[in-house]
Amino acid sequence: MTAPDGLPPLREVIARHGLAARRALGQNFLLDLNLTARSARIAGDLTGADVLEVGPGPGGLTRALLAAGARHVVAVEKDARCLPALGEIAANWPGRLTVIAGDALSAEVEGQLAAPVKVVANLPYNVGTELLLRWLTPPVWPPFWHSLTLMFQREVAERIVARPGSKAYGRLALLAQWRAEPRIALTLPPAAFTPPPKVSSAVVHLVALPAPRFPADPATLARLTAAAFGQRRKMLRASLRGLAPRIEAVLAGVGIDPTARAEDIALEAFCALARALDTDRGA
Ligand code: SAM
Repeated sequence: MTAPDGLPPLREVIARHGLAARRALGQNFLLDLNLTARSARIAGDLTGADVLEVGPGPGGLTRALLAAGARHVVAVEKDARCLPALGEIAANWPGRLTVIAGDALSAEVEGQLAAPVKVVANLPYNVGTELLLRWLTPPVWPPFWHSLTLMFQREVAERIVARPGSKAYGRLALLAQWRAEPRIALTLPPAAFTPPPKVSSAVVHLVALPAPRFPADPATLARLTAAAFGQRRKMLRASLRGLAPRIEAVLAGVGIDPTARAEDIALEAFCALARALDTDRGA
């Protein structure tokens, strides 16, 4: 039976092109077209948007993005075996799918995309985290993307949306929440994928804020959170000692108890502390 886009079912595509999943490429495919459609819907209205898809594989999510009306999908895939299957999708949607063969960590893609850009990806966890960090720390803000809709291991998704006072709260939460609004939009059990991974997965949707939630210098904030969470069980007056000789006074000056620990400090207070450290250095 063909799918609503007129293309064959994904299992047939995989069998015909010999796309047995490769563990080294983190290949856990989503073959259920209802799930790919649900994942694409999380990215919101795609008509009038360009989509950057990373790791299309046999193209399940790619097909859902095109069926949902994406103006142009640019898809970067490292596994050359997937290119013929992706070529068939491109032929089915003339002029709307550009496939780039290569590694998303080094491919130049921004030049191919017109605003507004939505990024959608179901990637191996290590590549996804590395790309998320890059997308959250561009040289200028706002970034080239309007939103990121990314599948992660559930534990990583929870670290992105974590609030102060929880074990999952740390640098990833602060970075993601400082200049974007992240939420977990969908959780999926291992059985949703072929082959099933060991752990559950979750789709995180992040919308870029026009400006950071609270002012702070990005480099100072990065140094501060690295020091604070590098030794997260230590009191801040100890973990931050290397950042300023008068650290206890700087902490007290912004209303932070010097004996508090990093995981109890909210984003707003970290930003106030970053500003105070810069002022202290200039004094
Ligand atoms: N999007 C498809 C889906 O949802 O069924 C495939 C998902 S599978 C988890 C991850 C895909 O990312 C694979 O097709 C793999 O070949 C590709 N991939 C892995 N590392 C990559 C990289 N560095 N750059 C681009 N694609 C990569």
